[in-house]
Amino acid sequence: MSEQCIFCKIVEGKIPAKIVYHDEDCVVFHDINPAAPVHLLMVPRKHVVSMQEILPEDALWLGRMLSKVPEIAIQNGCNPGPAGGFRLTANAGIEGGQEVPHLHFHILGGKRPWKGQK
Ligand code: 5GP
Ligand code: ZN
Repeated sequence: MSEQCIFCKIVEGKIPAKIVYHDEDCVVFHDINPAAPVHLLMVPRKHVVSMQEILPEDALWLGRMLSKVPEIAIQNGCNPGPAGGFRLTANAGIEGGQEVPHLHFHILGGKRPWKGQK
């Protein structure tokens, strides 16, 4: 827990979010400014700034957390199979485009008609 961190506050339930999944490792909620029909943020409960700070001892919870992505994506509107799918991204640092300094994975999916998807 980092006092001023907005994602720690969401993890702790101190500020609201549309939470779709939580377990001992992470909380998953809707991005406040969605960039795709489905746009979720997967946030570890542990305050790690970004993938730049990940250590070998984080492998267990990180792997466990990422293994949940496919099911959470499908349950929240991403389409299954090769014609569907999702994008999983983690921005790290200023040059990586990161704005919130608490590690998070964007889960983006859903049909995008503006990309020619019917
Ligand atoms: P970044 O640029 O750090 O990879 O992504 C931060 C993401 O967090 C952005 O997509 C932004 O819309 C989202 N975000 C920022 N503040 C909040 C918030 O208070 N609540 C929610 N649900 N999403 C937020
Ligand atoms: Zn935090």
